[in-house]
Amino acid sequence: MNNSSENEHILMLRETLQRFIDNEMPADLVRKWDKDNHFPAEVHRKLADLGLMGLTVPEEYGGSGRDIRATIMAIEMLCGRSMAVGGPFIQSTCYAGLNLVEVASERQKRELLPRVVEDGMIFAYGISEPDVGADIAAVRTTARLDGEQLIINGSKRFCSGAKISEYIYTLVRTGPKENKYKNLTLILVPTSAEGITFEEQDALGLKGTGTYDVTFSDVNVPLDHVMGEEAGWNNAWSMLIGPGLDIEKIEVAAMALGIASAAVDEAWTYAEEREQFGKPIAAFQSIRHMLADAKAKLHACRAVTYHAAEMLDRNEAASLETSMTKLFVCETAKEIVLSCQQVLGAYGYIKEFNMERHVRDILAMPILGGSSAIQKNNICNMLKLKK
Ligand SMILES: Cc1cc2nc3c(=O)[nH]c(=O)nc-3n(C[C@H](O)[C@H](O)[C@H](O)COP(=O)(O)OP(=O)(O)OC[C@H]3O[C@@H](n4cnc5c(N)ncnc54)[C@H](O)[C@@H]3O)c2cc1C
Repeated sequence: MNNSSENEHILMLRETLQRFIDNEMPADLVRKWDKDNHFPAEVHRKLADLGLMGLTVPEEYGGSGRDIRATIMAIEMLCGRSMAVGGPFIQSTCYAGLNLVEVASERQKRELLPRVVEDGMIFAYGISEPDVGADIAAVRTTARLDGEQLIINGSKRFCSGAKISEYIYTLVRTGPKENKYKNLTLILVPTSAEGITFEEQDALGLKGTGTYDVTFSDVNVPLDHVMGEEAGWNNAWSMLIGPGLDIEKIEVAAMALGIASAAVDEAWTYAEEREQFGKPIAAFQSIRHMLADAKAKLHACRAVTYHAAEMLDRNEAASLETSMTKLFVCETAKEIVLSCQQVLGAYGYIKEFNMERHVRDILAMPILGGSSAIQKNNICNMLKLKK
């Protein structure tokens, strides 16, 4: 982001976040959260106390207004220090806040949005299943109507942060599969409901929230937990492909940007401090060029991410730009982090340094929120490339 074009509220937010990160998220604690796969609930709570969960929520529901650029900046900064804080922040502001703002009924907004803003209420995404990856409309989990209750059966996979969430934003089939994009519904399933079981998957990175297999066995949920209530019944597909999906793509880009940015800072400092052959390794042209390439790529990643965020703030159609951003930033951030790991040599491969965590975390970014291959398909389809 160009400093001269930053307006005052963005500058103030940046300062507030930097102070928060320095005071509440020291590097040694962050390494411990990662090692113990620990969610620091008290840090999440303090973010809510600062009013930061309100960045995606209009003032009438207690927030500070729907500000995508500010949200993206907060995601970049928090994820640059710790995914154990940045991940749950996204789960509150975006999975809960933005989705409620975009598609909930008025009653649901009035009831749930203040809880996002004040308490940092967390949602998990229950979309993927054991046999359902990119083809999300093929979900097999079902909900059957029984009077005023829904009876849910099936299983979800890769449900990140399920155990720290109040609700799972669950995609289910609610009618015949004659057209796979119809008869799908999103249901807010309380994680405390009877009949839900969780089993943690042992993932390489993104520690803190954990990712879970979730099984629903005759889980009873009141009908008013259908997202959007009457308007949402059998209508999930249009909710999923709305502006929320565009924002989700740049949320992932912002996570990748934060991780890559931290890796570049650490490689830069290391190169100036580490000496070999009687001089800092930063004196060797191969290291200088790696760092110059990393800085240039990072600059380009940041420019496209904030450009897409500003388009979304202006409510412009940005599906193409957000797909390009998700693809470019996640793939480029992976290259950046892997080259920064080279700068640290052997120290980029051991747990005492942050770099190995950045490597583990960045590898998920081209997979999450629509893989790189899916974004390439989207780009060709939106630009009507003939088959
Ligand atoms: C750490 C982590 C956290 C996650 N958190 C969540 C979560 O909270 N909630 C949730 O619902 N899901 C979550 N996911 C799942 C994630 O969204 C899926 O991994 C993603 O949708 C892709 O599904 P898949 O991995 O099963 O791949 P598949 O769809 O099986 O694809 C496998 C490979 O085939 C390629 N491919 C698939 N279809 C096509 C196509 N049409 N054209 C070209 N190539 C194709 C893919 O790009 C990929 O390379 C998480 C995943 C990870 C790794």
